[in-house]
Formats: sequence, structure tokens, C-alpha cells
Amino acid sequence: MRKIAILGSTGSIGTQTLSVAEEHGDLEIVALACGSNIKLMEEQMRRFKPKTVAVWKEEDAKALRENTRDLGIPVGSGMEGLIAVATMEEAEVLVTAIVGMLGIRPTIAAIQAGKTIALANKETLVTAGHLIMPLAEKNKVSILPVDSEHSAIFQSLQGNEGNRIQKILLTASGGPFRGKKKEELTDIRVEDALKHPNWSMGRKITIDSATLVNKGLEVMEARWLFGVELEQIEVVVHPQSVIHSAVEYEDGAVIAQLGTPDMRLPIQYALYYPKRRTLSGKRLDLFEIGNLTFEKPDMDTFQGLALALKAMKKGGNMTTIFNAANEKAVALFLERKIRFLEITEIIEAAMETCRFVPCPNVDEILATEQEVYEFIGSRW
Ligand code: NAD
Ligand code: MG
Repeated sequence: MRKIAILGSTGSIGTQTLSVAEEHGDLEIVALACGSNIKLMEEQMRRFKPKTVAVWKEEDAKALRENTRDLGIPVGSGMEGLIAVATMEEAEVLVTAIVGMLGIRPTIAAIQAGKTIALANKETLVTAGHLIMPLAEKNKVSILPVDSEHSAIFQSLQGNEGNRIQKILLTASGGPFRGKKKEELTDIRVEDALKHPNWSMGRKITIDSATLVNKGLEVMEARWLFGVELEQIEVVVHPQSVIHSAVEYEDGAVIAQLGTPDMRLPIQYALYYPKRRTLSGKRLDLFEIGNLTFEKPDMDTFQGLALALKAMKKGGNMTTIFNAANEKAVALFLERKIRFLEITEIIEAAMETCRFVPCPNVDEILATEQEVYEFIGSRW
């Protein structure tokens, strides 16, 4: 039985990971962590009987300990609790399904403890990829992508060891506002932005998909995971979300992975890699789909992608400034304190203002995050 720990077990990726485990019955869930949904965590504890658990706030941990006293499972809290789950002795694979830069420290600790990482938490690679990738190599740890596009690229690389990647074709649905111009986006409400055409995901990544910031984060993620240059990654808007991404080789061959939009497939591929297993659910029916179409991304309207590429070209902590500003701006938008288009305005302002550090260590990355939050707090 492969032993699995999950950071963010109550979220969209976390619950789908548990559903994959339940479908097969041959994965053992040994450790779980979440933010504040202690009701669902209690259900998960009763169902999967993990050996250790963590939630973010100590007061929630106290309540959860009280409610699950009959189970006798230790419940930790804070960063210490997250790290305990990430490094839990028995676990072989850590699924990083937490949202945001909070994932950096636990992911680093898990790599140091030799755990295979099934990585959904892209913000960690975006901000600390230059530290994480060499650390994984040093500790001989695999980082297996869970993000659907990156899983598709990874699947397209199988059997091609030693062959040079010419180009990565990173597909994007275009989000709910594809085809709209800036003037049409001024009055976008939270409910409109939360309606993704093809995927059902957590709130933050759904907003990131609407601004195309998500695709910018994914270009950065692909760069780190597959060791390619920015110029080798092409974003292709493909509204049907059937081709999940592709790799072009030197001879012009393009290998892609296709399927229905279902995150359980990339999750399962990472959990059982290199084996494939059966998976319930709808199969791809090309006759039903009829047409696959492709467009160039509109980077004038969707500044999120343009700013991400700019941040990546600059390097250093600029990707952290980009990411932290986006995390804060999305939170403000979800609280209805700013308008939709202000998300990218805030990112741009932070990128122009916050202090640049060429090769930041973890402390400098987290200090940058604080500086960005203070800057945004003082202006918005
Ligand atoms: P989500 O909001 O549904 O879930 C986030 C999880 O993180 C929850 O379990 C929450 O409790 C936990 N969390 C939040 N704050 C925490 C804290 N302070 N301490 C401990 N746990 C905390 O998010 P999601 O959509 O599942 O996304 C998770 C990650 O996966 C993100 O980085 C996202 O970009 C990435 N991702 C998601 C999808 C998807 O389909 N949902 C696809 C690709 C990549
Ligand atoms: Mg994705």
C-alpha cells in the first residue's frame, strides 16, 4: 500500500485525491492537513483514519481534538502542524493541495525528508522554484505534477528520455471572459468570475483562470518542472479543454494528452506513477465534441498573463511580488473590496514599487510577501 499525506485535504484537489484513494482501496491515507473546515476534517478522520492531522489555528485544533477524542489521533496546528504532516515518517508521497505560498516551507521540509511530491500547489514553484528544484535533485526526490496541463506534458514526455524538448504547447481554456474586451470587464461581479466554463476548482484558482493569471503561473511552473526556457513555452487558448497540453520535439512531432476535463486523472497519474489504473467517469467522445479550436491569448485585455511573463523575465523575487500581489488582490476581490480589473492593476503597482532581490532565499521570499501585503494594505 502506497502511503499518502495530503496538505489541503478539504479543498478541491484534496477531496478529489481522497476520492481516488477510496475508489481503489490500495492507497493508505496516513496524514491530513487543512485550514479551517474542521467539520469536513472530522469526517475525513473518521473515514480514512490517518495517523496524524493538522489544522491552521490552535483554537480549531482544540475543538477538533475535543470532537474526535474517541479516535485518539493527534491534531497539530500552525506551520509546525503543516510541517509535521508534510514530513510524517510513514508517508511516501505528499500531495501539496494547499493554496498559496504557505506551501513553501512544508514542501521544502518534505523534500528534505525524502518524500515524493505530488505537486498541485503551483505558487510554491512560482516563488521558490530556484530553491525547490535543486533541493529535490540533491535529495533524489521526484516532483510529480498534478496540475492538468503539467501532467499532460509529463505524460507526453514518457518514453522520450534523452530527447530534447523543442517547445511546450501549454493550453488554456481562456476562462469565462474569453473574447471580451477591457470595457466589457469593468463591472464583473464575483459570481460571474467564479463561473468557469470547463473546470470546477477552488475559489482562488477560479479567479486566477478568469484573469489568465493562472496561465502565467503555469508558464512559470512548467519552466521549473521541465527545465525549459520561457521562449520555449507557447500558450494556446483552446476553449474545449480537450487537449490538456503538448510537447513538440526536434523532428516536429507533437505529442499531446487528451481527455475529458477531470482532475482525478492527473491526480491518479501522480499517485500511481508510472502505472495507469482504471478510473470511473465520462470518457472522451470526439464525435460528440466535433471541433477543437485554437486562438492566441489576448494579452492586452488579460494583463495577468502579460505581467506574469514580465515577472518571469525579470526573475529573482519578481515572481514572488507578482504572486503575493495576486493572492492579496484576489482575496480583496472575493471580499468585494476591489473591482475585477483592479486585480491586475494592483499586481502591476506592486511590481513597480516593491524592492527587487535577484536571488532570494526562503526568508527573503517570505519578507517580500510581507512587503507586498503591506504595500497593498497601505493603498487599497
Ligand atoms: P481550495 O481552496 O479548494 O483548497 C485549498 C485547501 O488548502 C483547503 O483544504 C484548505 O483548507 C487548505 N488551506 C487553506 N489555508 C490553509 C492554512 N492556512 N493552513 C492549512 N491549510 C490551508 O483550492 P484548490 O482548488 O484545491 O487548489 C489547491 C492548489 O492546487 C492551488 O495551488 C491551485 O492552484 C492548485 N490547482 C488546483 C486545481 C483544481 O482543479 N482545483 C487544478 C490545478 C492546480
Ligand atoms: Mg492547470
